Amino acid sequence: MQTLESFVEGRWQAGTGAQATLVNPTTGEPVARCSTGGVDMRAALAHARDVGGPALRRLTFAQRGALLMAASRALHAQRDALIELAVLNGGNTRKDAKFDIDGATATLAAYAEWGAKLGETQVLLDGEGLQLGRSARLWGQHVWLARHGVAVHINAFNFPAWGLAEKAAVAWLAGMPVLSKPATATALVAERVTRILVDAQVLPAGALSLLCGSVGDLLEHLAGQDVLAFTGSADTGYLLRSKERLLRQSVRVNIEADSLNAAVLAPDVGPGSETWNLFLRDIVTDITQKAGQKCTAIRRILVPHERLADVEGELTARLAATVVGNPADEKVTMGPLATASQLADAKAGVTKLLGECDALLGGLSEPPLTGAAPGKGFFFGPVLLKVRDSARATLVHQHEVFGPVSTLLPYDGTAQAAAALVRKGEGSLVASVFSDERAFVRELVLAIGPWHGRLYLGSEAMAPYSPGPGTALPATLHGGPGRAGGGEELGQLRGLALYQQRVALEGDRAVIDRMFPPTPRAPSA
Ligand code: NAP
Repeated sequence: MQTLESFVEGRWQAGTGAQATLVNPTTGEPVARCSTGGVDMRAALAHARDVGGPALRRLTFAQRGALLMAASRALHAQRDALIELAVLNGGNTRKDAKFDIDGATATLAAYAEWGAKLGETQVLLDGEGLQLGRSARLWGQHVWLARHGVAVHINAFNFPAWGLAEKAAVAWLAGMPVLSKPATATALVAERVTRILVDAQVLPAGALSLLCGSVGDLLEHLAGQDVLAFTGSADTGYLLRSKERLLRQSVRVNIEADSLNAAVLAPDVGPGSETWNLFLRDIVTDITQKAGQKCTAIRRILVPHERLADVEGELTARLAATVVGNPADEKVTMGPLATASQLADAKAGVTKLLGECDALLGGLSEPPLTGAAPGKGFFFGPVLLKVRDSARATLVHQHEVFGPVSTLLPYDGTAQAAAALVRKGEGSLVASVFSDERAFVRELVLAIGPWHGRLYLGSEAMAPYSPGPGTALPATLHGGPGRAGGGEELGQLRGLALYQQRVALEGDRAVIDRMFPPTPRAPSA
């Protein structure tokens, strides 16, 4: 069995002691093992801080952009090999695997282009300079400077390639070295991503480190110039953000956590219309893509009473056509959940929701499988639920089932009632509104916007071009308030703010202007 190594202090190191086992979720068979036992976390951080940091900060944005483009190309060249690993260790269909891997290369390429546009400068200005007193000589200008620490990235199991690359792209462009820790269960892809980048020698020494296995005492060595960006469950997020070391050192922490994303169908959208079809397509994609293990997936579906019967009928018919089984089989449209514990959590979550919902489709038992042996893998079929009483239901707004599960909530068709239900989620990554009536959309945007990082406005005009609400694009923000963790990532240059320090300069205008000529400006955080 393959042993995954960590890449720290500029070399590959196998961990000692007890090993975690990575499995193939289609068969339950082991595929690799890893451990971070014996890895010197303090030295790992020091190497990134002292070698990778200065090397990146010496470069201009355009030069960093060129590195990102080289990284994107190196990964794209190994796309097929990465897809195979995602099928093997993640239970991804080839389409799911491409979503993760192409998402990684596309995000690197997008930040590469923005780096090229920022040009041959190392410092970004924040807003206009301004006169501070009576004399025009006393001038104030805010600038952004790369932090001199390490960007520590702890990622969830569901996007091992994109998760690593989307965070790293932003940190590298900002000028910070990265130490990435993928979720152990699906680390095979992240390990290969790192190996490809190391072998291709596209990054300066120390710019990328990788931990395969647990974080050990890593966080006890973080300091005030470091950044911790975490994606995963709200419980782990809470544990990390409340660590005494991080609080005492004021380590900057960004949390991307649970999310009960809602989709609202407006009463103006009738069966058969473009917007109606977009609504159904987006929901089916979100339930089945990556077996519903997407932080942006639609979990709550709000439907006006008079449309409920039509939506129920169409959704159950479309979802019933899902072919569950071996993701390597071309006929299969949905693979297994990633781990045995995800399967157990999904079953427990649906059991909980059944306390206030009826099942319209699916259940707790293993669905019929294509190309896979029954009882071996971690399979769970699509589940569509409907709340018995929208006004009283609570669990559906609090408990995220991280699998192919979504719940219908009937409402009276007013934007006000829809907003009240959506807000019960207490903060999500994204909410979707499907309507061609501007007044309805505007009212909802104002009423639910502050509970979200992103709002997806589905309509007839945008339908042909839409990647769906489940796709986190590099140009728009990813993150959300409240339950979603309160974090912000991506959003074009806005994401750089996490990795840079905003500094106010007060002095002689002539000196400041000469040091930092008044272009370019960004980010606007
Ligand atoms: P998780 O159990 O919280 O694990 C996430 C990461 O944290 C893994 O790398 C894990 O490492 C690490 N970790 C766990 N305990 C830790 C500790 N005590 N100290 C330091 N690191 C620790 O979450 P998951 O099961 O992988 O992911 C599922 C959850 O993530 C879902 O709830 C989903 O909503 C959320 N999610 C959110 C987003 C978003 O962008 N908002 C995206 C994807 C997923 P090990 O694997 O080694 O334990």
